[in-house]
Amino acid sequence: MPAHHFKIGALNLISLQDNAQTVDIRQELGQVPETELLAAMQSHGYKDFNTKIGFNILFVQTPDHKVLIDCGTGMNDLLESMSEAKINPAEIDYLIITHSDFDHIGGIDDFPNAKIIFPKPAYDLWTNDMIRKTMIENFKAVFLKFLDPDFVARGAAYREDYGANKLPSLNQRIQLVVEDEEFLPGFKMVFTPGHRPDHFALEIASEGETLIHIADGYRHVIQVDHPDWYSRFDSYPEQMAESLVLINDRIKEKNALVFGSHFTYPGLARFDDDKLVFLF
Ligand SMILES: [Zn+2]
Repeated sequence: MPAHHFKIGALNLISLQDNAQTVDIRQELGQVPETELLAAMQSHGYKDFNTKIGFNILFVQTPDHKVLIDCGTGMNDLLESMSEAKINPAEIDYLIITHSDFDHIGGIDDFPNAKIIFPKPAYDLWTNDMIRKTMIENFKAVFLKFLDPDFVARGAAYREDYGANKLPSLNQRIQLVVEDEEFLPGFKMVFTPGHRPDHFALEIASEGETLIHIADGYRHVIQVDHPDWYSRFDSYPEQMAESLVLINDRIKEKNALVFGSHFTYPGLARFDDDKLVFLF
């Protein structure tokens, strides 16, 4: 299991890997005409539609804390990747949640001593019975287009249990935060709804350097040149496109390094003029 080390100012970061898959980009962006999609892939150095998708989890060692951003599925390789990087899950004292899809919160029980940083607007959505019902109906509508009905039904039941029972049971450990609140030195959540209604990005700054963790905002760098090339896994693509315009401005203004949950491992990218390119 790889563990990619890098720095932002005084912070030491490690990109950990929960999973990695080679996929055909047409699964994600199948609404785009194939010739346009292939041309875009080729302009980024790919020879065909195949690309590696990561399930990347970011760890940050601050002067005082061990911070994990999202916690994987709980079923894949994150714990092995952490062991490789000599990080003890019991020592994680802050766990930040970008959004509550299974691949981001499934491992939540693996970090029993962490305070859980959770955006208040997201918490309010998940714990409101009526709104949660609407979110689950949307989840079913989006995923039934691609996935087996039994799998989608299990996902819907998981989401119901998560909002109705799991989150309230973690109340003692949850610290609710609002957008742009500096809850740890240099750490702020940025509301970027669209992929899901509860989707947040995270800005981490230290000594004049910035990283923006865009979570599932972009799934692949080729989307950046084409705001209308939404992922078919997005719940509200038009809203996601609007969120991305704002977050792009923020990334460019701060000349930030970009971390994407599903970018090719290690999940890092940077703008080169107007083109976002993977760093690996
Ligand atoms: Zn995801």
